[in-house]
Amino acid sequence: MTKIAIVTGGTRGIGASISKKLKSSNFKVIANYTSNDDAAESFSKENNIEVIKWDVSNYDQCQKSVNKIYEDNKHIDILVNNAGITRDAPLHKMSKDNWQKVIDVNLNSIFNMTSLVINKMRENSFGRIVHISSVNGQKGQFGQTNYAATKSALIGFSKSLALESASKGITSNVICPGYINTEMVAAIREDILKSIIETIPSQRLGEADEVAEMVDYLVSDKASYVNGSTFSINGGLWMD
Ligand code: NDP
Repeated sequence: MTKIAIVTGGTRGIGASISKKLKSSNFKVIANYTSNDDAAESFSKENNIEVIKWDVSNYDQCQKSVNKIYEDNKHIDILVNNAGITRDAPLHKMSKDNWQKVIDVNLNSIFNMTSLVINKMRENSFGRIVHISSVNGQKGQFGQTNYAATKSALIGFSKSLALESASKGITSNVICPGYINTEMVAAIREDILKSIIETIPSQRLGEADEVAEMVDYLVSDKASYVNGSTFSINGGLWMD
């Protein structure tokens, strides 16, 4: 039976690499996105991967899409909670909107998506859930109280879910990437990015494919005893 994987934010950046890697491992991949139709359409065409548009911060949209995926495929075996955004500002300048938006997209989405697939995974006695956190959730970052709060919250969420789900053949693990070469990082001012790279022991950005390799392992049958763990991929930037 072909296993079905949902990758949120799976059409660009790290998510796109994860979608492609899981497809190459013979999973049927459904890649989600929220607004960039052009990027999603060309990703879908180039890779022959189904893409579906919904906003992971909106519970009703998640429910509608997940229900449709169950109708079409009967089961969802793998969930990669990858979609995420930044809205940086130091707390003394942070608007309520930028706080709320990041909480909704990066954290409330995790409840939305995971709660909608967990019951059927329990019934099927199988599931693999991977959450993409961040080095900045481990160590904090200037201007990212909102982002860091959501990314460290994923670690507590994942450990608690692992405790609740391990006896049902379900694993929940977290990956904390460091600075990865995607559009999110390209948006950082050039001089700031240069100074960040100087602090990375490997002296380079990571590649999205390097994160995808770890996801591919964690969702495999080989990783059934890896549960509630947090993995860093950061070139030595933060050792935790
Ligand atoms: P990108 O900005 O390159 O891509 C983000 C993807 O998420 C896009 O497919 C986007 O869709 C989708 N997305 C954004 N908001 C929503 C939403 N509300 N609902 C559904 N999909 C959404 O991000 P990255 O690849 O850089 O980051 C991916 C994850 O990795 C994020 O969680 C990020 O926090 C984390 N991360 C990234 C690091 C990095 O250095 N890049 C470092 C550490 C962690 P659309 O195309 O429609 O906009």
